[in-house]
Amino acid sequence: MPRIFSGIQPSGELHIGNYLGAVKNWVALQHQYECLFCVVNYHAITVPTDAGGLRERTLEMAISLIAAGLDPERCIIFVQSQVPEHTELNWIFNTVTPLGELERQTQFKDKAQRQESVMAGLLNYPVLQAADILLYRADLVPVGEDQVQHLELSREIARRWNARYAPDAPYFPEPQATLTPTRRVLGLDGQAKMSKSMGNTVGLLEPFDEVWEKLRPAVTDPKRVRRTDPGTPEVCNIYHLHKGFSPPDTVSHVAEQCRTAGWGCIDCKKVLLESLRAELQPMHERAAELRAKPERIREILDDGAGRARAMARETMAEVKARMGLL
Ligand code: SF4
Repeated sequence: MPRIFSGIQPSGELHIGNYLGAVKNWVALQHQYECLFCVVNYHAITVPTDAGGLRERTLEMAISLIAAGLDPERCIIFVQSQVPEHTELNWIFNTVTPLGELERQTQFKDKAQRQESVMAGLLNYPVLQAADILLYRADLVPVGEDQVQHLELSREIARRWNARYAPDAPYFPEPQATLTPTRRVLGLDGQAKMSKSMGNTVGLLEPFDEVWEKLRPAVTDPKRVRRTDPGTPEVCNIYHLHKGFSPPDTVSHVAEQCRTAGWGCIDCKKVLLESLRAELQPMHERAAELRAKPERIREILDDGAGRARAMARETMAEVKARMGLL
């Protein structure tokens, strides 16, 4: 069975952009593939973090993932720092990765521009990503469009290591991208990608009265100035969120009501709120159960790390043997 690896930063609670853009797809993939899903806390420390906050956000992310539908009986859920082989392979891959390739990465250039002093960890971030994936010799990686370049670098690193240490029969597969169906979810400002740093998110586990407080003023089609102005649903982010959460007949109804000015944007948002409630309410309940038993979360993560580590150790034994490392 093909193997899938994917990771998510411990930013705390998932938001609906993470859910539509990645995690909803993971929930489906766990039924078709052998899957490993990792909370990548080593990636998170490329920006300064406080220990207590990081610990809490890591556990909260694990709770969100399980509440969203990842089933520890069907997939491996673990935290990156519990499997030290990630950083071990990261170092080895640093020795086959040209500096120029790292400096050309768009995400590095964007982030480095905004920082006064750039840390080496930011530059080497995609090498750790390659180690994350190749440690498990994953065949497939579900990615959003902004991750395609990093995955190409992982393939390049696999090729370079294979060429040097496994020239006859490649040891590392070149992982392929499986593009996530909903590739980019905009925030409630309708401008930028939904992201915690932009303050334009709706939390997956946020109470619905708070969700409504955010939805009510959210940006819609700017041409709908008056209630009687017809709109163009395709330019409105609320319509795209309906496509993520509402049943198909509701989505058609939304488009029709918008184009004919049959209803106002507040009516439309109320329907969206009900669709969100229908999908997210069971997740709120699962999260509440998990939060009531913190030891259960630790058990799930320890078990996941144990299973991941057994695979990681096998890879490292082979890698070290081929490189002459004792
Ligand atoms: S009616 Fe709905 S889809 Fe149309 S502009 Fe308003 S919020 Fe957007």
